[in-house]
Amino acid sequence: MLNPQQAYLQTAPVQYQNERDILLKAGDYLSYWGNRILISGGHRALKASLSKIEEGLRKENLIWETYRFTGECCDDNIKKISRKAEDFGADIILGVGGGKAIDTAKVAAEEADCYLAAVPTIASTCSATSAFSVVYTPAGLHLRSHYLPSHPVLVLIDPVIIAEAPEKYLKSGIIDGLSKWYEGRAVISGMDDPDLFSQSALKLAELLAGEIKKYAHSSLQSCRENRAGSSLIRVIDLNVFLTGVIQSLGLKTSRGAAAHAIHNGLTVMEESHDILHGIKVAYGLIVQLFLENKAEEEISELVSFFKKLEVTPSLAGLGLRNDPSLLKKAGKKAVQEEVMCRMPEKVELEDLLLAMERTEVFVS
Ligand SMILES: [Zn+2]
Repeated sequence: MLNPQQAYLQTAPVQYQNERDILLKAGDYLSYWGNRILISGGHRALKASLSKIEEGLRKENLIWETYRFTGECCDDNIKKISRKAEDFGADIILGVGGGKAIDTAKVAAEEADCYLAAVPTIASTCSATSAFSVVYTPAGLHLRSHYLPSHPVLVLIDPVIIAEAPEKYLKSGIIDGLSKWYEGRAVISGMDDPDLFSQSALKLAELLAGEIKKYAHSSLQSCRENRAGSSLIRVIDLNVFLTGVIQSLGLKTSRGAAAHAIHNGLTVMEESHDILHGIKVAYGLIVQLFLENKAEEEISELVSFFKKLEVTPSLAGLGLRNDPSLLKKAGKKAVQEEVMCRMPEKVELEDLLLAMERTEVFVS
């Protein structure tokens, strides 16, 4: 059997639309792929989008059922949704919401042998556009990366819905997007002869980082005012679409490195579960730069960018305990993570703990 982590190189969903009131045309787009649709989304996401989606489906006489998703992207939830899709005879699972809801729908669609379409209602991850899900335990502990054999066939985004969602999700996505550049750069630096795909991914990640630094503040302002302005629309494309393309092109280089390993390590601390993904990644990025012995000037530039976003990338800033035994546990998990092994040099636990200490002093 082919291993999706090595066997597939696809770059994007088949269709991607980011346009006001696009959900009213959901039926036009979905009917191309089938006519029985299982909609699976979280409570808030469905409240923001379901009436528009249903209006769109009604216009094309499509048949649908709605499943209310709660909890984590975990094996129990994946099974529940795939069974539901099989019982209903769904052609398509439409995942609605943020990363967790869409990631779960993606694996469920693979298991139920349906197409997967997505309606992101927050712009915090590339979940909607990538062929990849992150699976957790029901309690929120990071379990595994799950690579899928194909991309979602359709992504529909109404920027008005994103503008009405809390800005913290947009902020989390902005930082997560930025990590594609810092982590990709680290991974590629350890490769002798990176292939065309890896190089393309890194060039795009550099473009992404520049654009994010340019538009982050105005897009957050736009979101705060619940206004789907042009900078917000631009940042949605960056956070949701371009990060997905980079993730796919950068099969060998753009699927996380130290910053994400540190993020995964932090999940051993229960109090970290309520902190948004991107915020923990911000901390991981600063620790990573210390691990790489980057110039203080560069680290300082990134710290002040985060501080301008009102994120303080230290344990104290995240509200986490600076407890040596707990940090050792987190560090042990982090150095064993598969993504940590992508760093150009092996990261030892002592090096990581030292970089964490330096971060704490430097940032506060
Ligand atoms: Zn991430």
